[in-house]
Amino acid sequence: MSYNAHQVMSFDERIGNTEFRIHERAHIVVDGDACRGCSTQECVVACPARLFVPTSDGGVLFNYEQCFECGTCYLVCNTQGAITWTYPQGGHGVVFHRT
Ligand code: SF4
Ligand code: SF4
Repeated sequence: MSYNAHQVMSFDERIGNTEFRIHERAHIVVDGDACRGCSTQECVVACPARLFVPTSDGGVLFNYEQCFECGTCYLVCNTQGAITWTYPQGGHGVVFHRT
């Protein structure tokens, strides 16, 4: 499917059109203890891949595997040390396809 400037891709289309070459090492690590004191949880709404999920105890669950490597979570998080961010090892990570 092709898109013009007036069309917006749905979340499922965005994920479905993207390939992830997953490395066994997580390139982003979230410190659950640091997150427990965070009342704003900016990462949950900011991550375009919806990889941060709030838990009932006030923390967040995080899964690195379908990460777009945009860096938004690292930019919006105000808690020092909560997110350790690196790119995946060469040859791994997100692969964008022209649609
Ligand atoms: S990653 Fe940062 S913004 Fe997200 S819950 Fe943890 S401390 Fe809050
Ligand atoms: S780098 Fe982007 S896609 Fe990956 S977890 Fe952070 S906000 Fe989500």
